[in-house]
Amino acid sequence: MFTCAQCAVLACKSGELDKMPKNCPMHDPDFFEEVFQEYLAPENHDFFLTSTAIKALGYCRWPRLREVAEFARRMGYVRLGMGFCVGLRKEAAVVDRILRDQGFQVVSVACKTGSIPKARAGVPEELHLRPGTREVMCDPIAQAKLLNRAQTQFNICLGLCVGHDSLFYKYCDAPVTTLVAKDRATGHNPAAAIYCAEGYFRERNALGTE
Ligand code: SF4
Repeated sequence: MFTCAQCAVLACKSGELDKMPKNCPMHDPDFFEEVFQEYLAPENHDFFLTSTAIKALGYCRWPRLREVAEFARRMGYVRLGMGFCVGLRKEAAVVDRILRDQGFQVVSVACKTGSIPKARAGVPEELHLRPGTREVMCDPIAQAKLLNRAQTQFNICLGLCVGHDSLFYKYCDAPVTTLVAKDRATGHNPAAAIYCAEGYFRERNALGTE
């Protein structure tokens, strides 16, 4: 089992390969050579070089919103897709405006599109946010397929729920980047629960607690 997250050596980063731990993935160099060829494939090469350039050009200066726009512009994308949560519709409108002002076409689809009741999808009443009311399910597959139909070249995920975002990624034809990771407990800043894992979020991070 690979446990890079607990590695104190980081021989991969330093290049001191004689120091790699016993369970380091790099003990299989053939694997890495085979994977490396993927970066040279025409459909990946520009994409990878452009994303690496964005990282260098805006390092510690550009907000992610600008990085998304710079990446899309350098890739020559014109038509962008955005799958967003209706709870973040104001934020989605701002992103939409900014990207349009920058010359992009923006196709946006809200998570509640289709207006299908949660109950029809088998969501029990006790898992409704407001039991007794008509609650509409999120439909990330429809969001993705509508963007596919519009032939978007690059898609933005803005505030979709955990798992719904996974389905959105799964069904999108175009590559997806996440602009906002939904986390209502932290103002959509999931890293806060990591930085404060020994403090404010110690109890809240534990499984099975309220
Ligand atoms: S790849 Fe190897 S050296 Fe790098 S973090 Fe993982 S275990 Fe450590």
